[in-house]
Amino acid sequence: MLEKLKEEVYKANMDLVKHGLVIFTWGNVSGIDREKGLVVIKPSGVDYDVMKPEDMVVVDLQGNVVEGQLKPSSDTPTHLAIYRAWPEVGGVVHTHSTFATGWSQAGLDIPNIGTTHADYFHEAIPCTADMTEAEVKGAYELETGNVIIKRFEGMNPMHTPGVLVKNHGPFAWGKDPHDAVHNAVVMEQVAKMASIAFAANPNLTMNPLLVEKHFNRKHGPNAYYGQK
Ligand code: 13P
Repeated sequence: MLEKLKEEVYKANMDLVKHGLVIFTWGNVSGIDREKGLVVIKPSGVDYDVMKPEDMVVVDLQGNVVEGQLKPSSDTPTHLAIYRAWPEVGGVVHTHSTFATGWSQAGLDIPNIGTTHADYFHEAIPCTADMTEAEVKGAYELETGNVIIKRFEGMNPMHTPGVLVKNHGPFAWGKDPHDAVHNAVVMEQVAKMASIAFAANPNLTMNPLLVEKHFNRKHGPNAYYGQK
């Protein structure tokens, strides 16, 4: 079942290793088949060295395992909350990549201070609020999804396809698993660049015209970046 999506999700998980975003088992990627309402996700705690496409687990949007021998990722309820909230999302990624996690631990949004950021993320990449005792002691991974969704109230998640979960790490998403990984890789680069920029000049400024120019030339109604 969903063999093509399993291959895609497996490859996207392996791409996290290729791009240096995960060590050990610190990350997960999923993808959704919207017609069937089924999600394919990495199994929990399995070494990337031995993981195979057939190890991917199929779950429904309520988290019931539909196919697979292994337990799905511990973060599955967070991924599912994102899919339920935002119908345009086709793939979700979580990592503990160093610089993005550094900003999560600092509890700070990554401000939009350069064209690399603006090419992919319209707004600052937001950091979520502290989780309450009830959220941490309750359905923690589902509540993690809920704090992400709450943080995006009034924002377009497809225009700013990533978030920093406070004291935890980044989640990114995209139109499919490959696109979600691409955004996670860019988020890590942007976090690294912002760390260097603020260390060099804590009073730096950004020209808001450049944000609009760069975001819109790739994603606006008259986008012209790339080939036809
Ligand atoms: P899983 O192996 O369960 O996906 O967990 C990885 C992780 O990064 C937890 O936050």
